[in-house]
Amino acid sequence: MISFNVAGLLHEPPGVIRDVRLRDRYVTLGTDVELAGPLDADLRLQRTNRGILVRGSVRAPLRRTCARCTDPYVEEIRVGVDEEFLPSIDPDTGTPIPLEVGDAEATLRIDEHHEIELDGVFHDELALTEPMHPLCRPDCPGLCVECGGRRDSGDHAHGGEEIDPRLAGLAALLRDRES
Ligand SMILES: [Zn+2]
Ligand SMILES: [Zn+2]
Repeated sequence: MISFNVAGLLHEPPGVIRDVRLRDRYVTLGTDVELAGPLDADLRLQRTNRGILVRGSVRAPLRRTCARCTDPYVEEIRVGVDEEFLPSIDPDTGTPIPLEVGDAEATLRIDEHHEIELDGVFHDELALTEPMHPLCRPDCPGLCVECGGRRDSGDHAHGGEEIDPRLAGLAALLRDRES
């Protein structure tokens, strides 16, 4: 879990900043964002009138599966973060602060121990980078329609003309998908 205690910053006047550097942090962000290694982040926490603004960037290696050849590959991703967290209790008195009318229920809160948790923010930003058609490389030749092997390895001169009529449909389909 990636969390920071902002009790000190909450006692500063608006505008005061604190820079945070994360290096080689191993985290789990859920099954749909699969990290192939640790992530790095450079963040600036800034006291605002209402709470704490978190801005910066995250770099993470994401595991993907190629849509053409079905091989797994790793893509280095960099995303921006720009979120404001609002306190759930008054830092001085400890009394709960209700959300103001108009604040969405999805509003990010600083918890009652003055901690902000960034896992959810990192997850959401990284999940958005999942491509519709992930490719291990732009020119991935995909799989051979006849034998199912990788087209960039081995010999796929299987005799040419003798394509099984049932596979001919599949071949046309694959050509369509790639064009
Ligand atoms: Zn591929
Ligand atoms: Zn083949």
